[in-house]
Amino acid sequence: MKKYIMALDQGTTSSRCILFNKKGEVQSVAQREFKQIYPKPGWVEHDPMEIWSSQIGVAIEAAAKLGISFENVAGIGITNQRETTIVWNKKTGEPVYNAIVWQCRRTADMIDKIPADMKKKIRNRTGLIPDAYFSASKIKWILDNVKGAKTAAKKGDLLFGTVDTWIMWMLSGHKIHATDYTNASRTMLFDIKKLKWDEEILDYFGIPKSMMPEVHPSGYNYGYTDIAIASGEIPICGVAGDQQAALFGLCGFQKGDVKNTYGTGCFLLMNTGEKAIRSKNGLLSTIAANTEKDPVQYVLEGSIFIGGAVVQWLRDEMEFIKKSPLSEKLATAVEDTAGGYLVPAFTGLGAPHWDQDARGTMVGVTRGFNKKHFVRAGLESIAYQTHDVIRAMEADAGYSLNSLKVDGGASQNNFLMQFQSDIINTEIVRPKVVENTALGAAYLAGLTAGYWKDKEELKAYQKVGTVFEAEMSAKERKEKLDGWNKAVETAKFWSKLNSK
Ligand code: ADP
Repeated sequence: MKKYIMALDQGTTSSRCILFNKKGEVQSVAQREFKQIYPKPGWVEHDPMEIWSSQIGVAIEAAAKLGISFENVAGIGITNQRETTIVWNKKTGEPVYNAIVWQCRRTADMIDKIPADMKKKIRNRTGLIPDAYFSASKIKWILDNVKGAKTAAKKGDLLFGTVDTWIMWMLSGHKIHATDYTNASRTMLFDIKKLKWDEEILDYFGIPKSMMPEVHPSGYNYGYTDIAIASGEIPICGVAGDQQAALFGLCGFQKGDVKNTYGTGCFLLMNTGEKAIRSKNGLLSTIAANTEKDPVQYVLEGSIFIGGAVVQWLRDEMEFIKKSPLSEKLATAVEDTAGGYLVPAFTGLGAPHWDQDARGTMVGVTRGFNKKHFVRAGLESIAYQTHDVIRAMEADAGYSLNSLKVDGGASQNNFLMQFQSDIINTEIVRPKVVENTALGAAYLAGLTAGYWKDKEELKAYQKVGTVFEAEMSAKERKEKLDGWNKAVETAKFWSKLNSK
């Protein structure tokens, strides 16, 4: 029996590799940062060759740290930054342009120009709200702006891939050109119900279908590593975009399971089972990671722009704390926020409020309000924003969440987790392993390779770190939420006054 599962975690700022054992425990980690390229304000690129070299580098390093060869690896799972777009030449394998990163806003105008009926088709078929984040307009930009690209694409000489596709192409010695449902569903070109590329949307963006990768379930035998690259033929058998991989890694297999990653921003995903739900609250519908033998499941996705970033702001701009974890000490040194609320709408308000002109707002400040109250109000604002997204998800889905599974840097804050549980009136499960994204990719690969028998076996290995139970009275919860709602209205009112 081969001993390890290898997860390649290709993120926005670094490439990582983690080797897991049979119990889902981390055995070895290697990580390398790579260059962020900002050619113009609002533009973000990566060098595809550096993505590859850093990724294969850390894979070799993680194996070397354990003193094992790739022969000891039962399967490789890949998880990646989503939406980032790479176009390369099929014959030479050379990228024709840098990777255009999900954050890049260069195609915002292109999105504004999409006619209303096409926007509607995109919403209905892809589950996404048209935006420059997704791959479609980035591919079009490359075809329109790189000399000779359009002609080469028409001749069938160019291939497109998200980062998973690029890594598989390189790992397999240019043999695999494929992606999984979760990554495909973030391109804005994939029909999430028919499970195929949408020819009308491809035509609208002028993208030849010959550029598009094959699409398979996340847990699927995609092919093997090239012997010259990995010193062995290892099956590549798990692929998922980072957020969906994290939900899978947290064992969010059931309809009603919700996870929130408390990073710089917050990413919430709710498993909605076999039904793709059309949101009335501006949430996205997208495909969940699953194995080939299980039915296709969907998720509702909502994100919060300023999550842990509010703590960074309290640290770096307000200089109230030296380190982010100290926010907990200050927040618990006071009973409450003394009636104050902070709405950290620094870049507008996202789901479900959607007001891009709203700005940060502080309300209810009295003479006794001090920096401890301020920090507490900052942490509480993360929980209130999460509350609003969860209630929107429940309204769209028509049922309540089972429990909230959490990860990400700010989930280590016990005050925040307890307050979160109190405000949503639901239990929160914070697992011991914090590497849920990589673990999700490993689970997909291990289930496909037969390294693990089934999902039940995985659940048995999950080590719950801490469970937070709601303790707040219904009366207090209502009072606090009423205050928050009024604070959000104030932020929106400011936006309205400014738009006059
Ligand atoms: P990302 O992947 O977006 O870089 P991480 O998951 O590493 O984010 O989380 C980092 C964020 O979490 C930062 O915004 C940081 O301020 C916040 N953070 C980290 N630890 C704590 C803590 N103990 N309490 C509150 N916030 C924290």
